[in-house]
Amino acid sequence: MQLLRLGRALHRQFLAVLTSPIALVGVTGLAIVIAVLVGAQAISRDARERALESASQRLQNTAALVARHLDQQLADVAADQADLRERLRNSLPEDDDAWRHEAAAFRTHDLLRSKAAWLRVDTEYGVFGSDGTMLAVSSRHPPLPITARDRLYFKTLRDRPGADDSPVIDLVQSPITGRWFLISAVPLRRGDGSFRGVLTRRIDLEGVGDFLSSLTLPDGSAVAVHLARGGLVARHPALPHLVGQSLRERMPDLEPVYTRTSFSTRSTSALDGRERLLASHALSRFPLVVTVTDKVETALGQWTSLTEALTRGAIAAVVTLSLVFVLVIRLLLRRFRAGAERLAEERNRFARAVNNMDQGLLLFDCDERLIICSDRYLQIYGLDRDRIRPGMSLRALLEERAANGSLPHGVDDYYALSRQAARRGGRSTTTTGDGRVIRIDNNPLPDGGWVVTHTDITEQQNQHHAIEQLAHFDQLTGLPNRTLFRQRAEELLAALEPEQRLAVVYIDLDEFKAVNDTLGHRAGDALLVHVGGRLRAAAAGAPLVARLGGDEFAVVLPCASREELAPVLARLHEALRTPFDWAGSPVTSDASLGIAIAREDGDDLETLLSNADLALYAAKAAGRHGHCFYDPQMSAAAALRHALETELRVARLIGFAEAGFAVHYQPVADLGSGRITGCEALLRWRHPSRGTISPAEFIPAAEHCGVIGALGHWVLETACRTAAQWPGALRIAVNMSPTQIAEEGIVARIGEVLAATGLPPERLELEITEAVLVRDTHRTAELLAELRLLGIHLVLDDFGTGYSSLSYLHQFDFDKIKIDRSFVQQMTQSPASLAIVQSIIGLAAARQLRTTAEGIETEAQRDLLRALGCTEMQGYLLSPAVPDAALRLLLAGPSPALPAVA
Ligand code: C2E
Ligand code: MG
Ligand code: MG
Repeated sequence: MQLLRLGRALHRQFLAVLTSPIALVGVTGLAIVIAVLVGAQAISRDARERALESASQRLQNTAALVARHLDQQLADVAADQADLRERLRNSLPEDDDAWRHEAAAFRTHDLLRSKAAWLRVDTEYGVFGSDGTMLAVSSRHPPLPITARDRLYFKTLRDRPGADDSPVIDLVQSPITGRWFLISAVPLRRGDGSFRGVLTRRIDLEGVGDFLSSLTLPDGSAVAVHLARGGLVARHPALPHLVGQSLRERMPDLEPVYTRTSFSTRSTSALDGRERLLASHALSRFPLVVTVTDKVETALGQWTSLTEALTRGAIAAVVTLSLVFVLVIRLLLRRFRAGAERLAEERNRFARAVNNMDQGLLLFDCDERLIICSDRYLQIYGLDRDRIRPGMSLRALLEERAANGSLPHGVDDYYALSRQAARRGGRSTTTTGDGRVIRIDNNPLPDGGWVVTHTDITEQQNQHHAIEQLAHFDQLTGLPNRTLFRQRAEELLAALEPEQRLAVVYIDLDEFKAVNDTLGHRAGDALLVHVGGRLRAAAAGAPLVARLGGDEFAVVLPCASREELAPVLARLHEALRTPFDWAGSPVTSDASLGIAIAREDGDDLETLLSNADLALYAAKAAGRHGHCFYDPQMSAAAALRHALETELRVARLIGFAEAGFAVHYQPVADLGSGRITGCEALLRWRHPSRGTISPAEFIPAAEHCGVIGALGHWVLETACRTAAQWPGALRIAVNMSPTQIAEEGIVARIGEVLAATGLPPERLELEITEAVLVRDTHRTAELLAELRLLGIHLVLDDFGTGYSSLSYLHQFDFDKIKIDRSFVQQMTQSPASLAIVQSIIGLAAARQLRTTAEGIETEAQRDLLRALGCTEMQGYLLSPAVPDAALRLLLAGPSPALPAVA
């Protein structure tokens, strides 16, 4: 198996190498080198053939030339011979004996000699009788007893039939000197043409040899003359020992030399064993053949140098090409290697990226074969890397998962589902055996494969659940928050039958701020938890109990009528009033409740909630600690408030004085001396259509719609400007709304007003209520300190009505405390109120603070307060708030209600 895999890998590698550009370049290089070599060889071979052909042609020409020359020579010889024969015939008698006698006579010799001498060449004429006996010779007289009877030429001429007188050429060797000659023999005839003898002419071979040597032939060349029947006549360079010998029989392949007019061939020489080029040409009129030979190597001399040059060129080309290709291949190899390294690096990076992904990733090809399986996938399903291999099928993978128990269904079902998902793509979730939730995303690929990611979303789901909790539940009490309250209330309303009723109860804790500020936030939180728990218990069975935020809660209750609701409301109120234990001491709380009933007070949630809110507002306005059912008049009041706010905005635009606002002044007198020490500026609004409206009504509206800043500023400025004109050092007290105090840059603005009106700061008193103090104690303390630094006096207004937290007196520096008129007016009847008034006066005295009692309407109240040690008084007994002009009259006259105490 291993071997098979290795084999496959090698085969793949081999194919990859073969088809790689490097192999292509290599093969191309090799092909070019081979082409160059083959081409060079072809050129060389062609050149060789042409060199041989041209050499052969040259030889042929030479042979033809020599043959022609010899032909001419021999023709001359034949002509001479014919001439001599004619002269002999003329000079010799016809009779045989006489002829023979005369032929042997000196005269004949002399004729021959003179003819030979005339020729001026080394030659010899001879006359032979019909029996072959030499009768006369040009070289001597008498001739030697020589016979030509056995000579071939003699026999040829003797036996030749007809009257052919053409010469016979033959090669003979002198029996005496051993020298070789060429004999040209012609027949001598009787008058009747019969054979009578032979006239010979000896041709010296040296002459032929000299002629041959006179030809300028290249080195190694040889030129030779042969008898047509075989037998060397002459040769240059000379080979004397071979003269007369016939090569014809020894070299049968050269037979055409002797039989054809011209012939050329290449053969190995019988003489020197070398390969030679040979060309032959037969004489046209004589039986002689001229051969010219040349050594092949000589013929190829030029070719050899050409071949050498070609070879050098080819080698240079091959070397250059090889170098170029080697360089190119090296370059390609380097690039290939760099590319391969880059690829490997990228593959590594890819693997790292895939394995570090939060998702498990699978990639399949179109045959459902696994290509990539990330580590995370194995980890999610607890699979073994050794068992999950690329190349395995989807089914095999699922079988592995089934084997380790991480498959939620059977293999067949899951396989069918997986294939379907792979084709369609899309998202699904599955839960593993150990309760983890896995999200599976299938993405089909264009090539038929697909990518699957498996994401463990257990944590995500838990977080989602936690976020859901956070988004919908109050973390402190565990009750549904406002969002969930609205959702569920909406559902409950939607499910409500026409005859059914549903009450929405809004709850607001009355003293929560005070608890928070006096006992700390932890106590406040504990109070909220306590209230939440109590509420849940008291409203057991109610479809919805929620904390809407801050100290607001809500309960939704099914009910038939208001009466039916009464016991439940009582129970709820009771639960809210139950004190809770904080650090060993009981902390009491109370709440105001506003109720709206579905169908009666509204059908949709928005209307119901806003009506419950109005009812709650009314409950609070009614003095807290109680509950109010919604009344349509509340809506009217709300509408009125809304109209008021609009008019306030208009007033801000047109000017407060123009809109009917005026500042009145209520004097404050010293209870000891009875003298008026200052006045409180109280705002009045004479509404064009509604008559005089109380500040208790429009101040909250101005606070609500944001006009209070401008309005308060206008009051401050008017009051300060007016007070600056007053005689003496009367103080002016101006009420500051909590919203106004909280405004950015308020201290600077007050300073500017003082500077602008010229009122000394110590004559200005700012009256603030406890509501200012409960906001942000740290910032408020800083603010009040800054105001005091300016020299302004600070007065705590309406003390005892609000949170009445004594801690405020410790935390903030005040110059005066104003005792609310509700206590002053009740103290003569109510011992509790008297006790409160007493304690406030005592507290202020201990801190050396002045006290002003508000709302003194009777002398009894005045006297009691003076007796209790209160320092100042304010009330109708002295004067109500009056315009500046009336105040001035008052100041001018004696005090009506305050006789000085002695
Ligand atoms: P406050 O500051 O406690 O003012 C005293 C209130 O008691 C005034 O009511 C005054 O007319 C009334 N009063 C004085 N003596 C008597 C008396 O003997 N008997 C009775 N029954 N009442 C008496 P008013 O003018 O209706 O003002 C109500 C509240 O409106 C003020 O209470 C103050 O908190 C607020 N307010 C008035 N003017 C301004 C203002 O310019 N700015 C701000 N922010 N609040 C103002
Ligand atoms: Mg006041
Ligand atoms: Mg007051």
